[in-house]
Amino acid sequence: MLAGHVEMGFMTEVLLARRKAAVLAPSQLACLAKLPTVNLTAGCAHDCVYCYARSYSQNPGKGRITLYANTLEMLREELPHKRKRPPAVYFSPSSDAFQPIPQVLELTYKVFEFLLARRVGVAFLTKGRIPDRHMDLLKANAPNIHAGIGLTTLDERISRAFEPSAAPPEVRVAQIAALRQAGIDTQIRLDPILPGLTDDEETLDAVFATLGRLDVRDAAISTAFMRPSIARTVRHHVHDKKLAETFLDHYTPGAKLTMHGAGTSVIMPPAATRKAIYERTERIAARYGVSVKICACKNGDIAAGSCHIAGDLSGKTHEPQQGTLFG
Ligand code: SF4
Repeated sequence: MLAGHVEMGFMTEVLLARRKAAVLAPSQLACLAKLPTVNLTAGCAHDCVYCYARSYSQNPGKGRITLYANTLEMLREELPHKRKRPPAVYFSPSSDAFQPIPQVLELTYKVFEFLLARRVGVAFLTKGRIPDRHMDLLKANAPNIHAGIGLTTLDERISRAFEPSAAPPEVRVAQIAALRQAGIDTQIRLDPILPGLTDDEETLDAVFATLGRLDVRDAAISTAFMRPSIARTVRHHVHDKKLAETFLDHYTPGAKLTMHGAGTSVIMPPAATRKAIYERTERIAARYGVSVKICACKNGDIAAGSCHIAGDLSGKTHEPQQGTLFG
């Protein structure tokens, strides 16, 4: 870490660190087994209260993120030495490439640009606001992009309480529309579903009616999972205590599960509760022509197969379009 080198980005303190291990890291999650993954930061400024990555040892704590400032420099060294060029890279298993921090967004742009210019596809999952400049880059490289947009609910009040610094739901919906319009393979992740808060008929109908209108055909779903540290964060940071307790009640008693591929255990709502939620979600989604896949990494007791978190990018990538070769 660069001692004393601290910059401010919005309300988040940005610590600059030099990455020592390789940039392209294998994921522990089975659904990402074929692609290398990159976290540009440790910690995430979106501050979702249900976020499992808050408890990771590298996380510098609330109100701070660590930015791996030498990522591009290392990638320039690392990529040419790969025996086999990866078809795509996934961003980011435990952070978000579109955090509202200028330094993060700049690094995201440069790293995406670098990879796409070398015909390495980019798959990402975000709950953030994608700036116009980045959106233009994605559009110019549409065949080599898989976009994942995390959408928990269209209810602003619940989104603000549980995802205080992520993009508001209407911004995420507008981004889905823009990505779809540009012909970019776009998957929606209704993940996490917050039991007792976002799993009712009306809430789900509103979400899938919107997705259906945008011609989205593919969504992955899962309820949130729980750990003692997540429960503490929810109790501490969700100011509406009724919301917090309604959500947490669904995990007592819960089902203890092992995250597929990751080997760590988490608490999920009981299988019967989840099955009822997923069946309801599937039925409502089908009404609007959307097919759903249950995330089997988090629901190994009742689901199997892949939710295709990175789309089809594990196959070969397409030539960049004219005028999109950089560097
Ligand atoms: S956007 Fe993702 S990584 Fe960031 S805080 Fe929310 S759940 Fe965690």
